[in-house]
Amino acid sequence: MHEWALAEAVIKTALNVMNKEGGKKIVELNLVIGELQTIDMDAFTFAINELIKGTAMDGAKINYEFEKPVFKCLNCGYEWSIESLDKLLNEDEIEAIHFIPELSHVFVKCPKCGSPDFEVIKGRGVYIKSIKIQE
Ligand SMILES: [Zn+2]
Repeated sequence: MHEWALAEAVIKTALNVMNKEGGKKIVELNLVIGELQTIDMDAFTFAINELIKGTAMDGAKINYEFEKPVFKCLNCGYEWSIESLDKLLNEDEIEAIHFIPELSHVFVKCPKCGSPDFEVIKGRGVYIKSIKIQE
């Protein structure tokens, strides 16, 4: 159900943008999905494809792009991506972080100052990168 709610929100947002711009139809939609987002892509794309039927988005080309997580230390301001964690963590820990982002605070520490106090600045949630509208 989580995927349907997300898909619904994405479509609603896209249609709102189209209406604001005075368009008639959405021909292309580029979505960015954070890799820390717990989402079943099969269910999500299915929901999107079902929900756009009969809307101004029907037949639109939808592209999905994945975004690597980026963390920012709240203590020293250092930013780092999760790829660099491969050396610090084992596969199970990385897997755990992907499924439960909150767990990252257990495993992840700032590589520069060692502080466990950080925020996830990229790689969470789903957002619309761009929309192609036909007038
Ligand atoms: Zn730091």
